[in-house]
Amino acid sequence: MTTEPAAPLVPEIDTTRPSIARAYDAVLGGKDNYEVDRAVADELFKVMPEIGDLAWYNRAVLGRGVHHLAAEAGIRQFIDLGSGLPTVENTHQVAQRYIPDARVVYVDIDPIVLAHGRALLVQNEHTTVVTADLREPDTILALPAVQEMIDFSEPVAVLLVGMLHHLHDDEDPQGIVERYMAAVPSGSHLFLTHFCRSGPDAAALEETFLRFLGTGRFRTREEIARYFDGLDLVPPGLVHLPEWRPDGLVTHPLTIGQRLMIGGIARKP
Ligand code: SAM
Repeated sequence: MTTEPAAPLVPEIDTTRPSIARAYDAVLGGKDNYEVDRAVADELFKVMPEIGDLAWYNRAVLGRGVHHLAAEAGIRQFIDLGSGLPTVENTHQVAQRYIPDARVVYVDIDPIVLAHGRALLVQNEHTTVVTADLREPDTILALPAVQEMIDFSEPVAVLLVGMLHHLHDDEDPQGIVERYMAAVPSGSHLFLTHFCRSGPDAAALEETFLRFLGTGRFRTREEIARYFDGLDLVPPGLVHLPEWRPDGLVTHPLTIGQRLMIGGIARKP
């Protein structure tokens, strides 16, 4: 009797080159990264000692944003594009606290996300993880995993949190956002956060990102605001991350690290 070799359960991970997902995990102080990723994190910390705080402001606003979407806007389904490695307070954990059967599709290009996501999500029938390139919206939207999990006649939250700055201008990030938002009905929401061109520190950090990871574009507030064209920003609008519906007091002036990203949530009319 012959047996076919089983398909590998853990996809192949290239540990010779840094990946965005693993470098971000290293900056967050996680353990799902390799020497090559930690070397990038070290370079980022040299240029911007607050980079770890910045990553945590982003994770924190992700939680507050998903809370708003599930608990206040009543959104029951989420497509989390460029979801990253599972860490604390992942989208489904926050959403399902308010809506136990909230459905979440995680999409990430990095196979390590699937490897670790499977372990975390194996017992959750309302959540799935796919390895795919979000720059191909039509392919993503047609995936069986997406079609089975998402009801496109009901409002959907499209998440592009900490993600769009990893797309170059010639990859048409604006057109990509528009394609996803065209596929979802009225009452759907767009939630995004983005590196902001806020001064010389942003320029230095952008240079380091581009040198070591090949992506990391710091866009102006006007450029980022354009992603929300045709949508209604919910209060407080497009703001620095610590200012988006804070849990506690926010002291001013904001630190350099607090000014390096902005984000917001908007509703499709
Ligand atoms: N959304 C999470 C958060 O804000 O905490 C993770 C953000 S992480 C900085 C960006 C993620 O986008 C990485 O996990 C990376 O692998 C993923 N990514 C980059 N380019 C992508 C693409 N073209 N398609 C899908 N995912 C992509």
